[in-house]
Amino acid sequence: MKALSFNNVSKEYSVGHGVVRALDGISFDIESEKVTVILGPSGSGKSTMLNLIGGMDKLTSGQLMVFGENISQYSERELTKYRRNRIGFVFQFYNLIPSLNAYENVAIVQKMNGNSFCAKEMIRNVGLENRLKHFPSELSGGELQRLSIARALCKNPDILLCDEPTGALDSETGRMVLELLTDMAKKYKKTVVIVTHNASIALCADTVVHLKDGHIEEVVKNEKPLSVDEVDW
Ligand code: ADP
Ligand code: MG
Repeated sequence: MKALSFNNVSKEYSVGHGVVRALDGISFDIESEKVTVILGPSGSGKSTMLNLIGGMDKLTSGQLMVFGENISQYSERELTKYRRNRIGFVFQFYNLIPSLNAYENVAIVQKMNGNSFCAKEMIRNVGLENRLKHFPSELSGGELQRLSIARALCKNPDILLCDEPTGALDSETGRMVLELLTDMAKKYKKTVVIVTHNASIALCADTVVHLKDGHIEEVVKNEKPLSVDEVDW
């Protein structure tokens, strides 16, 4: 089943007197309950693409369908609801709230969404049950990313968007986080989109979208995605 459809999507940013065309008439689909990796060098438009899917930014032209709904025509109000209920975001630098402890950082999303999972269960899932009272400043990079995965999943979103989720981690920790991300996505049947410039991560994806200068170079389906421990990082 199709989760997302980009139909001739362009995104331009105004800069000074000119414009930057970050995405240039892109068309492709993302399948539901699969892992899709968007692979491309810095500046190729990866974050822009993720921000459009996440309803954090609006496209300039074209159409973006999410589970059959045209989100490019959503009002601000509809977009806020969409972001809150349907999207989980995992960032490179975690975006946790420094003044809340680990438990509170996850539990906060429970309050916003009636359909959410139990915060403690999600924290247990990522192996941080003995860190509930720790503040972000008291956790390692790998622990912070595991916590942010727990937070993203806790609100039970349809789509999990991950922008360079292993970009700030050493290779061993990065592997662990990637494995957790794909396991959790399978367990909870989420559509996962991972943005990266690390080609190794792409070997574990069901589909790889190669992006360059705002264009799609190719879309490759992996018949047999590798497990994370089979990949040289
Ligand atoms: P990536 O995530 O692949 O590194 P981005 O999507 O962040 O790429 O950026 C794609 C292009 O759009 C780059 O040339 C970048 O400079 C430009 N860009 C991104 N965000 C903005 C913005 N808010 N304003 C102006 N230009 C932007
Ligand atoms: Mg980026």
